[in-house]
Amino acid sequence: ALSDGLEGQVSGARVIAQALKTQDVNYMFGIVGIPVTEIALAAQEVGIRYIGMRNEQAACYAASAVGYLTGRPGVCLVVSGPGLVHSLGGMANANMNCWPLIVIGGSSERSQETMGAFQEFPQAVRSSIYGRPGACYVDIPADFVSLQVNVSSVKYVECCMPPPISMAETSAVRMAASVIRNAKQPLVIIGKGAAYAHAEESIRKLVEQCKLPFLPTPMGKGVIRDNHPNCVAAARSRALQFADVIVLLGARLNWILHFGLPPRYQPDVKFIQVDICAEELGNNVRPAVTLLGDVNAVTKQELASKKSLPMNYYTVFYHVQEQLPRECFVVSEGANTMDIGRTVLQNYLPRHRLDAGTFGTMGVGLGFAIAAAIVAKDRNPGQRVICVEGDSAFGFSGMEVETICRYNLPIVLLVVNNNGIYQGFDTDSWKEMLKFGDATTVAPPMCLLPHSHYEHVMTAFGGKGYFVQTPEELQKSLRQSLADTTNPSLINIMIEPQGTRKAQDFHWLTRSNL
Ligand code: ADP
Ligand code: MG
Repeated sequence: ALSDGLEGQVSGARVIAQALKTQDVNYMFGIVGIPVTEIALAAQEVGIRYIGMRNEQAACYAASAVGYLTGRPGVCLVVSGPGLVHSLGGMANANMNCWPLIVIGGSSERSQETMGAFQEFPQAVRSSIYGRPGACYVDIPADFVSLQVNVSSVKYVECCMPPPISMAETSAVRMAASVIRNAKQPLVIIGKGAAYAHAEESIRKLVEQCKLPFLPTPMGKGVIRDNHPNCVAAARSRALQFADVIVLLGARLNWILHFGLPPRYQPDVKFIQVDICAEELGNNVRPAVTLLGDVNAVTKQELASKKSLPMNYYTVFYHVQEQLPRECFVVSEGANTMDIGRTVLQNYLPRHRLDAGTFGTMGVGLGFAIAAAIVAKDRNPGQRVICVEGDSAFGFSGMEVETICRYNLPIVLLVVNNNGIYQGFDTDSWKEMLKFGDATTVAPPMCLLPHSHYEHVMTAFGGKGYFVQTPEELQKSLRQSLADTTNPSLINIMIEPQGTRKAQDFHWLTRSNL
């Protein structure tokens, strides 16, 4: 073959081919001619597939698509002059798509003493796949191709590793999680950066666990199947227009996404941007949170951070509803606790729900629960009473816990505790605030003492008390309380102090479990 040289000698073409193969480059598209024919032959000899095309532009498109599909750059082999010019369209397209590509062009001869190691390839491969992927051009002088060099003088640089995985700053991850949790109509947009990053598994988990609606961009399609129940592609315009928080996963706010601007979006929509390219962050809009890093890694960070965040009303009621016996009494009072609880907790029997009622009275809950438990004892032994209280509401009649314990009524009391009336402060903010003065002058009037252990009110009288902060703890304590048919229990459920209600519109944007 052309690339075979004398004993102990190797041609420049063979060195090029071997260097590519060493870099785990496996596909070459192109059109041969002087001086690159030998490179194509040598490529085949070392096990690189060569696909001869009819125009360099198509060859270059093909090579870049291979790069997107495999994560290792495809090679486009072209001759000098017109061949290179034709490949420009493909290079531009690869760069715009952020797809890795190496274009090898043969150029005219230049006198070279020896060739030595072929350093350009590892560099070209690395710059095509590291950071934001894109096109690279390597110019091969004609005499490089035909030159014979001593085999022993050629050293192939080791295969360059897949790009290092970068993660986002932890404070930004936390902030993003908090913005998502407090979103009324969140939307995840999945772009081809997410596809390229192989982030399908982590994004599906995020979307499902947080009950987030998602929209794929044209090539983001399929990262999560199009017929997934959370896919809102059929209502694309509406989803974009009404979202208050948008999580961009490897997608740019360019013309495809209407630049992220009104009227296609809310003027005050909060963007959370995840991208591997720092220069992309803040393009066209001012994002609420920027997460610089690999989509897959950052999505996993978000999933992990979600676990450590406090629960909100929806998480709590979702888990309560899961275990609620069908034939139970539900007693409830509080503001958000009662309102949101009513929408999630199901009643199956008449006269089995008692709440703040027509007068909106706080302090009725424990009395009502005691009445229900007494009636149940006489009429339907074993029937449970679940009393769902806000922390403020519980305060109005908390001492009735003594009554409950005195009569040994197996009521399950849930205190959904957000450290306040409507909303409160977390412990850190509370402490921070007290630096500015006495609580009577600086504390917002709706704040109650953060981190109050209301469950001790129950243990003080011999009942069971639970302090829970995670969904797992909530599930476990509920299971134990409901299994215990003789003793009363109180589960003090800590939730996010600033967690508020979501808007009531659009069934496809509702989520119950973030
Ligand atoms: P679409 O056309 O699907 O909206 P774009 O091409 O506009 O997608 O955006 C893709 C984005 O993905 C680019 O900004 C690119 O920097 C980014 N990207 C590519 N690979 C990764 C990765 N591994 N992690 C994060 N972002 C990535
Ligand atoms: Mg409260």
